[in-house]
Amino acid sequence: MPNLLPTCDMLHFMDRFDRISKIGSTGDGGVHRPFGSTADLELRDLLQHIAREEIGLEVHVDPIANIWGIRLGSENLPAIVLGSHHDSVPHGGRFDGPLGILVALEVIQTLKEYGFHHRHPLAFVSFTAEEPNPFDVSTMGSRTIAGRLTKEHLLQVTDWDGRSLQDAITAAGGDLTHIPLARKSKSDIFAFLELHIEQGRRLELAKVPIGIVTGICGIYREHITVVGEANHAGTTMLRDRHDALLAGAQIALALEELVKAAQTDGLVGTVGRFTITPNAANIIPGACDLMVEIRGATSDAIHRTAQSLAKATTAIAKQRGVVITHDVLLDQTPQPLAPELIELMKQAAHTQTIPFQSLFSMAGHDATHMASFTHAAMLFVPSIGGKSHCKDEFTEMRDVELAINLLIQTVMKLDLLSSLDI
Ligand SMILES: [Zn+2]
Repeated sequence: MPNLLPTCDMLHFMDRFDRISKIGSTGDGGVHRPFGSTADLELRDLLQHIAREEIGLEVHVDPIANIWGIRLGSENLPAIVLGSHHDSVPHGGRFDGPLGILVALEVIQTLKEYGFHHRHPLAFVSFTAEEPNPFDVSTMGSRTIAGRLTKEHLLQVTDWDGRSLQDAITAAGGDLTHIPLARKSKSDIFAFLELHIEQGRRLELAKVPIGIVTGICGIYREHITVVGEANHAGTTMLRDRHDALLAGAQIALALEELVKAAQTDGLVGTVGRFTITPNAANIIPGACDLMVEIRGATSDAIHRTAQSLAKATTAIAKQRGVVITHDVLLDQTPQPLAPELIELMKQAAHTQTIPFQSLFSMAGHDATHMASFTHAAMLFVPSIGGKSHCKDEFTEMRDVELAINLLIQTVMKLDLLSSLDI
């Protein structure tokens, strides 16, 4: 049977991928493009250029500096939006984020060139600051349009060096004083589709090119501060010490034990940031800062672990004579994705005989917040060796091609519908 569906052109896809991978390149295969960096700003310019000049989309930047590119449809309907984020973790990989944006642009361009007359507007979005950043606000762009971050809160945010978020957002083309205008609803966005690398090894091990995501894990992040007593490392006897580092280390180990003991599928805990003061060879550490993160498939499992950790820290504080304080930075509930969209993607996979696996995402994504107010879905492509957030991040372009063609068909079917509510 002849293939009547439009298919993408991987040559210009790879050309674009190479162009954007040069921005913020670390020279060893990775990129360094955190939110607010020069590379972030440079890539924003390039993405707008591609969307406007190479694809012919109407481009604008919203108050939180998300980049939007829209191709109007024939009817006054909410938009079908595809996208992801373009920022990276410090010294991260080339694929996490931008791949989803280039796929979104490719889907829209292919449909345009095929002459597909769509009823809904088709849009791409590149979200601001998805990754953790010096402002300690991740998934900033998607959380803002979902109404989960307020103008009042954002206007008070500064980075570790005291730079205001307003300055960084203004440099990126937004304006925090207009944040309420960034808010979106179901009447603006009919459906959101995000392609992302898996960042694990499940698809690679199963030798399956596509993952259809059924839901996204909950993420809980807590900043713990330990205040002990800095003192002379030679003359202070062990019994007189209030070593903040040792208390912090005990907290990290306690977290590992709690997660192991919980024996709950998918539950993980990490201390990813650990700083001590004054950090000198001959001084007992007087203070310690930890960033604790817990992820899981249920809020219940996450909260039970956080509560047990709080109990453990109380005991550690008593044992070492230190003061420990907690500040919850993020408490994101696990988010199921839209069953109607999952079904459409499965149908497209069957039609094109693309093997797929349904799986749960253990990484947080912008789709989590989009799913809080509209229908959202995600596709994963395999990460070779499960590597992510590092220079060795890699995904085969043949898998990306399958994902683009699957999304093209999904969008075409989706466009026929005016409602997804059961
Ligand atoms: Zn990402």
